[in-house]
Amino acid sequence: MNHPGVNHPGEPCPAFVKEMGEDVAKRVFIKTYGCQMNVYDSARMAELLAPFGFARTEAAAEADLIILNTCHIREKAAEKVYSELGQIRRLKTARARRGGAMTIAVGGCVAQAEGEELRRRAPFVDVVFGPQTYHRLPELLARAARAAGAGVVDTSFPAEPKFDSLPNRTSPSAVTAFLTVQEGCDKFCTFCVVPYTRGAEYSRPVAEVVAEARRLVAAGAREITLLGQNVNAYHGRDADGESRGLGDLVRRLAEIKGLDRIRYTTSHPRDVDDGLVAAHRDVPQLMPYLHLPVQSGSDRVLAAMNRRHSADDYRRIVERLRRARPDLALSSDFIVGFPGENEADFAATLALVAEIGFAQAFSFKYSRRPGTPAAALGQVPEAVKEERLAALQALLQRQQRQFNRACIGRVLPVLLDRPGRHPGQLVGRSPYLQSVHVSAAAERRGEIVATRITAAGQNSLSGTLALAEEPPGALPEAGAA
Ligand code: SF4
Repeated sequence: MNHPGVNHPGEPCPAFVKEMGEDVAKRVFIKTYGCQMNVYDSARMAELLAPFGFARTEAAAEADLIILNTCHIREKAAEKVYSELGQIRRLKTARARRGGAMTIAVGGCVAQAEGEELRRRAPFVDVVFGPQTYHRLPELLARAARAAGAGVVDTSFPAEPKFDSLPNRTSPSAVTAFLTVQEGCDKFCTFCVVPYTRGAEYSRPVAEVVAEARRLVAAGAREITLLGQNVNAYHGRDADGESRGLGDLVRRLAEIKGLDRIRYTTSHPRDVDDGLVAAHRDVPQLMPYLHLPVQSGSDRVLAAMNRRHSADDYRRIVERLRRARPDLALSSDFIVGFPGENEADFAATLALVAEIGFAQAFSFKYSRRPGTPAAALGQVPEAVKEERLAALQALLQRQQRQFNRACIGRVLPVLLDRPGRHPGQLVGRSPYLQSVHVSAAAERRGEIVATRITAAGQNSLSGTLALAEEPPGALPEAGAA
């Protein structure tokens, strides 16, 4: 259904064409903060603007349009955006002195949270838009051009599905690609802003995801990472009107010829269902690596976080997954110093980590997010948080080193996806998402090559081309330290 004020798929918005002029070469600089979902959104914004003559530039000073695609997850996220805008204002002023114009747009989760406040504090910003309204960007830019400095703010949660209003993906794809299948979250963990900035859970229909995946593969992608704030809550509508889970979606995508690898992120333990576990067992294209955030090993803290699972639930889920896929490598997120966390709670986190064994992980000190329930609770002193974070990271890093070292001497299939730092070198990904540096000719980029691992560091591996890869399922344990 067409919606007033929304560009129809693949069709330039008439108002935008009138205001901005079609086919006049212009440059857009997009700065992306945060997660892969923002990286995906930025790519879609660039595709949306391409029919209006916008080509991406890496030089902000040269741009006619600057877009900041912001993220709210880090501490003082909004302040960092205002500070960045201070620099951009200078570019806009310099351009105006030369008689030119520069349009500034701020999108993403900080824009969603700040809304009108952003225009109040930075009146030189022309457009403020949220993660759910970026498909209206051409229309918003046209309105801003007409508004002559008055600016436009659209941080609504529109009724029309955003993905229906985006053009089909046409830009050349990389060997690896992201594909958003789900957005928003209904879980309301007490530390997280996502349910407020991205809204309620929404899953794209199965056929739409499959069609986009086919286009990405036709453009050269061999690996696709399915994205969602809570991706395994996926429940997209199928052609028969029934809803399908992530496991079913993975099976459907695995039928696409030329799609060799499928990954997904980020997951919630509560949404690991039997269908997904079975997909890990049955679908060889589904890579044996899973990012499954646990946040804490203490049931008391998990309850305060409103995670709605216990540490034992997490253990049982991991056990089921490892039974289905014995070489599954795990990654996770941890928050230390959550309000009310005591020494015993923290010890429970260390114990869980030691027991499960992670191939890699992300760990952070708790920091307040204004507007979230946990922000109002009594805080753990900063020095205590730092001490706990150091202890946890030492353990996680030891596990990662052990996991990487256990790969030395093995032959792994590596998808070569980018040039290395040295001539004659390419970098790729192992099935376990490790970066692998390989001596190989540039034309082998895009191939999956059997690589004998010869060295391992904290964050990456090195290897040489081998004749054949080993059968899967025999990877050593992920360093249960
Ligand atoms: S499940 Fe993830 S996205 Fe949803 S509220 Fe919790 S941390 Fe945020």
